[in-house]
Amino acid sequence: MTEVLDVLIVGAGPTGLTAAAEAVRHGLSVRIIDANGQGSIHSKALVLHSRTLEIFTDMGFVDHVLDRGQEFRALNMHIDGKTLTRIDFRAIDWQDAIYPFWLSLPQSETERLLEEHLARLGVKVERHTKLTGLVQHADRVEATLTHLNEAGEGLKDEVIEVPWLVGCDGARSATRSLSDIKFEGTADDELFILGDVALAWDEPEDEGQNFMSADGILLVVPLPEPKRYRVIAHMPKLSADDKPEISLNMLQSLMDNRTGKQTTLSDMVWSSSFNVKHLVATHHRQGRVFLAGDAAHIHSPVGGQGLNTGIQDGYNLMWKLALVHQRIGSEKLLDSYQAERHEIAESTIRKVSLATKVVTLKTPISRTLRNQLASLLINTDAVHNKMGRDVGMLDIAYKSSDIVKDDSVSRNRAQKVIQAISDSGVNFDDGPTAGERAPNVLYLDEKGKPHSLIDSLYGTPHKLLLFAGLSDRRPSEMLCEVQAAIAQRYPAIQTCLVTTTAVSKAEWDGDVIVNGDGAIHRRYGVTDEAVYLIRPDHHIGYRSQPVAADLIQAYLEELFV
Ligand SMILES: Cc1cc2nc3c(=O)[nH]c(=O)nc-3n(C[C@H](O)[C@H](O)[C@H](O)COP(=O)(O)OP(=O)(O)OC[C@H]3O[C@@H](n4cnc5c(N)ncnc54)[C@H](O)[C@@H]3O)c2cc1C
Repeated sequence: MTEVLDVLIVGAGPTGLTAAAEAVRHGLSVRIIDANGQGSIHSKALVLHSRTLEIFTDMGFVDHVLDRGQEFRALNMHIDGKTLTRIDFRAIDWQDAIYPFWLSLPQSETERLLEEHLARLGVKVERHTKLTGLVQHADRVEATLTHLNEAGEGLKDEVIEVPWLVGCDGARSATRSLSDIKFEGTADDELFILGDVALAWDEPEDEGQNFMSADGILLVVPLPEPKRYRVIAHMPKLSADDKPEISLNMLQSLMDNRTGKQTTLSDMVWSSSFNVKHLVATHHRQGRVFLAGDAAHIHSPVGGQGLNTGIQDGYNLMWKLALVHQRIGSEKLLDSYQAERHEIAESTIRKVSLATKVVTLKTPISRTLRNQLASLLINTDAVHNKMGRDVGMLDIAYKSSDIVKDDSVSRNRAQKVIQAISDSGVNFDDGPTAGERAPNVLYLDEKGKPHSLIDSLYGTPHKLLLFAGLSDRRPSEMLCEVQAAIAQRYPAIQTCLVTTTAVSKAEWDGDVIVNGDGAIHRRYGVTDEAVYLIRPDHHIGYRSQPVAADLIQAYLEELFV
């Protein structure tokens, strides 16, 4: 090797660009290649979800995304020409969401902003460069990169050796096939068509419209530019092998037939058709090779989860890879990538395939029945709220992951009974459990100044929150000893005392969150001394009340070397 290279990222779509930027943020040196001469010029995935925007905040470039995107204000549901409900994204219960909305931003823009962000970090995408060979050894991967000319023909091969390779090379992933990893699942026969158009009508520009009619579903999604929209239609009479010529006239007549509204379409800049596939790679990890994004899973665009899931794969993987590569973390971390993200891919497929079946019912009778049922069910708070946190991917949790643990369950049951009847009404069982996303809390400090807990969680290290307990408790000697032992032994972990009252330097030598109003304690279910370990991806790795030094040590010893 002529230069030190820690990781090769194959593919510069949204997943690869995120993975590369995350690799750099976590201290790895990276090369990123793409067979194409330029990034995507098509709008493809349109919606960035709430959890993805939190990730972009942690990555440090969310402002660019918010500047370019357009808030998706509401989704209106119409059945047979009548408006059934308006789901106002600002009115639903987002609980602690930092970005309580969907953001409309074409994939081409998301990629452009990610690539600019990566360039600011000092990494340039190597274009016209294709992965064509891959051999794994115990300590490295040998990758053959073929440099292409403008016409996509091979000019010369370059063989490199690299400790880790992440295949973000899309649905037809060469990384996957060169690693002999199977891609299993089904492809439906249902065909959708879409077109990005200018549209003159009376509807608000920042709202989406979903029209259900006996002819099939038609969706109109706002694009960030004024008066521009994507029109997507299910074509029940066509099948996956049909390649319809999509014209403005065709879309106009679908709008006329299915919306019952006065509309004029013009200036179509992009059109496409797709059938629905649900496929997942049997392995997200094989030794030193990882798959992420569409290379690892593809599913129906219903719910707009594809691009968002890929970005979240990269965010989940890179802190683990960095810790293992830097010989700080144990191999167990890398196995957890497979366990955590494979399960998410499968559960996303289960959810979106059900939703897709509902929107693609074949016979007019079943579509009429669906529409009648929808009119009974859809206008409830529960359904509206699902469009917030659930679709926004805020409730994704890794509860059965091997690297998360709740020790309050394994020790001191009697203590839990006492907590359950404690006067404060706060119960540890009601706090977030291991594997869940750490909830954000708006709290007041001792002077009544407002703060957001998430601001203390951003950044690359693990955060160990040591709670002193409610009712103005001072940190005990034991809590101070735990803090000192962990700070000395695990430099990758930042410790922080969470207390309801200010403490002196003599009482606590380290970071402190003074939570004067007790809001963090209550949200985290804490009454007595307790501990929460927040991972770099803001999921809860470990929690316990009471604090038992031996149990925390045992947990950390399995994760860190
Ligand atoms: C019409 C359409 C609408 C969609 N709508 C939505 C939506 O609303 N919401 C949503 O979340 N998702 C949507 N998706 C899905 C979304 O576009 C994908 O999930 C997303 O592009 C996946 O990103 P990725 O980076 O994993 O893969 P890709 O975007 O496919 O990127 C893979 C990259 O790898 C490169 N590459 C491939 N092979 C090699 C090789 N051998 N060597 C080097 N480079 C290689 C390719 O050139 C490409 O740049 C839609 C997709 C389509 C087609």
